[in-house]
Amino acid sequence: MREQLLALDELAKADLAQRQIDVELAEIESGLSALREAVNRIGSILAQERRDIEAAERLRASHLADLEGIAEKSQRSSKLRDGARNARELEATQRALEELKRQKEERTAEAARLEAQITDTRTQIARHETEFAALNDELKAETAQSAERSAALQESRKESQAARNKLSLAVAADLRGKYEMVFRRRGSAVAEVQQGICRACNMGIPPQLYNQVLGAERVYQCPSCQRFLLPPSITQPSR
Ligand SMILES: [Zn+2]
Repeated sequence: MREQLLALDELAKADLAQRQIDVELAEIESGLSALREAVNRIGSILAQERRDIEAAERLRASHLADLEGIAEKSQRSSKLRDGARNARELEATQRALEELKRQKEERTAEAARLEAQITDTRTQIARHETEFAALNDELKAETAQSAERSAALQESRKESQAARNKLSLAVAADLRGKYEMVFRRRGSAVAEVQQGICRACNMGIPPQLYNQVLGAERVYQCPSCQRFLLPPSITQPSR
């Protein structure tokens, strides 16, 4: 049974190596997608800012057009006032002029406010454009680098998959089935036993079972986590 324990140990190491490759591949992908998200976020902020500027410019233009109309009306009202034939007409044109003056002040202030807002937004756009360009460059560089790294990892994954399949053939079919089942459930399927404790789940092994595990006459599973228990003589053969 010793060679079965050794085969299980080898298989577990191969699976661990595979897992590490998968983790690294996933990390590369998540790094890239975080960068892509950052680029998209700034991109949509920029798009919004450009829309804001367009809207503010349209509104400002309409205020400026209003001001031209107000100036014309004021000129006409001034003439009417100058030619007023009685107090009532004078008062009416005076009132109209005051109303036009009020409108002029209001539109002028609003146009100035919009102009300041447009200037601010332009500054922000310039800043975001710089950020966007820098992030985009980073994304391009990172994408190229990651593609290389991923290809190398995929290659070694293929190799380790082949090696793993070979190793699994050294494990008896019934053990292999159990191994796969525990592996799927727990993420690993073998555990070292040290001083009567399963190192994977840290539960104590009953003394009689522990002695049997040390004897290595058969393959035993941890009563708590079902992993195959490897005696120290298997995992540290030099001792
Ligand atoms: Zn256990």
